[in-house]
Amino acid sequence: MKAKLAPALFLAGLPGDIGGGVVMNAGVGEMITPREFVEITTEVEVWRWPVSGAFRLEKVRLKASELQWSYRHCEGWRPGLIAKVWVEWPIEPDTTILERVREANRVRLQKQPLDKPSCGSVFINPPGSSAGRVIEGTGLKGFSIGGAQVSEKHANFIVNLGGATADQIWQVITHVQSTVHAKAGVALKTEVVRLGDWP
Ligand SMILES: Cc1cc2nc3c(=O)[nH]c(=O)nc-3n(C[C@H](O)[C@H](O)[C@H](O)COP(=O)(O)OP(=O)(O)OC[C@H]3O[C@@H](n4cnc5c(N)ncnc54)[C@H](O)[C@@H]3O)c2cc1C
Repeated sequence: MKAKLAPALFLAGLPGDIGGGVVMNAGVGEMITPREFVEITTEVEVWRWPVSGAFRLEKVRLKASELQWSYRHCEGWRPGLIAKVWVEWPIEPDTTILERVREANRVRLQKQPLDKPSCGSVFINPPGSSAGRVIEGTGLKGFSIGGAQVSEKHANFIVNLGGATADQIWQVITHVQSTVHAKAGVALKTEVVRLGDWP
């Protein structure tokens, strides 16, 4: 933003750290350049335990071209922790960028339930379609279990109305998947990643 560079436009609305951005190949749906991490990343440094079992972290530097990037996903760096990311973009300041970032954030505020806690888009858009629209079409907006609710504003968001547990959110996710499959014949895949032990 300070340098008025084009990547500010897609990065401005993405909550998270740079490591998570690479792992998720985070980005926006709008056809702008650049729109995903794959376009700005040149190298990553991964810290991992050596196979030998030695008690000393190994630092591996990988070129972005050695990684496998796809829609909201990046492979080829595991196992380990992404500790450094090199990003690159030509120094070509765009004086309209601040205004465009403001406008993009205004549109996000209008379309997404950013006033309530959520983990962002829950499902990956099915090819040629929008997960939110498919879910909305099955009448699931507002469906809730405990404090976990399919947002009334944007059906691809599950909001926490208060006290929702991770398990309730997962129950809503599986209910949406089975309902959408039964009514619309679409198999929704989650963009959200579950961490830790699940029953
Ligand atoms: C309101 C809202 C709106 C959102 N809008 C968008 C959007 O428009 N586009 C989009 O792409 N995403 C969106 N997201 C999702 C989120 O912003 C991105 O997925 C972001 O990249 C996550 O970054 P994070 O640092 O929070 O990672 P986390 O969510 O904490 O982690 C994501 C994954 O990466 C792994 N990970 C994280 N950091 C590292 C690391 N350093 N090394 C190794 N593994 C790591 C985690 O184990 C996990 O598997 C939105 C989220 C919210 C809450």
